[in-house]
Amino acid sequence: MGRILLNHIEKRYGKEKGQAVKDFNLEILDGEFLVMVGPSGCGKSTTLRMIAGLEDISSGELYIGDQLVNHLPPKDRDIAMVFQNYALYPNMSVYENIAFGLRLRKMPKHEIDLAVKKTARILEIEQFLSRKPKQLSGGQRQRVALGRAIVRNPQVFLMDEPLSNLDAKLRVQMRTEIIRLHKQLGVTMVYVTHDQVEAMTMGHRIVVMKDGIIQQVDTPQKIYNHP
Ligand code: ADP
Ligand code: ADP
Repeated sequence: MGRILLNHIEKRYGKEKGQAVKDFNLEILDGEFLVMVGPSGCGKSTTLRMIAGLEDISSGELYIGDQLVNHLPPKDRDIAMVFQNYALYPNMSVYENIAFGLRLRKMPKHEIDLAVKKTARILEIEQFLSRKPKQLSGGQRQRVALGRAIVRNPQVFLMDEPLSNLDAKLRVQMRTEIIRLHKQLGVTMVYVTHDQVEAMTMGHRIVVMKDGIIQQVDTPQKIYNHP
């Protein structure tokens, strides 16, 4: 279901700009928590965006489940993405922000209502549903961003440094929350971070990238030389 297969995936942005991702080969297992690390500009976000369908693939094959998705638009992929800058709609209430993706997919109103309220319950943001994003704290906003992702019940979550704008205390709290959500929902996670503690505590496996190339794929223990 939530398996992702990347087969000789490449990304070129333009002739002079060179290649952002080179011959990326990886099978991400159903239910796995995969973490991607590497220096800025090494191709992590580009890889996530290709999986999400937000970026065209220059060559190679991308499968989600058993389906070749190279040309499938983002809304038809069984995927939700969470960014570091929340990407909430400022003029919509929390309720409407969470409901947005379901409205786009023409889900009946009463089903949307049930799904939004269930999501709000899971994330403990029920009391904020009528507020606008600017009336929330950073941690609450990031919960809403998570809510927009989980409300659609996707098999795959893509997260691009979702906690990097939060202060240290909240980061620890949200880290625990994401680990819990991953377990509870039984989904596949692909998670980009610069934070070694996040990578070690969250990842089943870690992909280390450099200059668009996979350098290493292994358990956190092996990558960080822990016994
Ligand atoms: P990371 O997420 O690891 O920081 P990115 O995937 O964002 O790296 O970028 C990989 C490479 O692709 C970088 O050299 C970056 O400059 C380039 N790149 C990213 N997005 C674009 C774009 N829209 N147009 C041209 N080059 C881009
Ligand atoms: P209408 O367009 O018919 O006025 P809305 O889109 O405003 O309906 O709301 C539809 C349903 O969504 C309502 O029945 C309500 O249960 C729910 N809803 C909307 N906004 C909120 C909110 N801020 N908090 C909780 N539930 C809400």
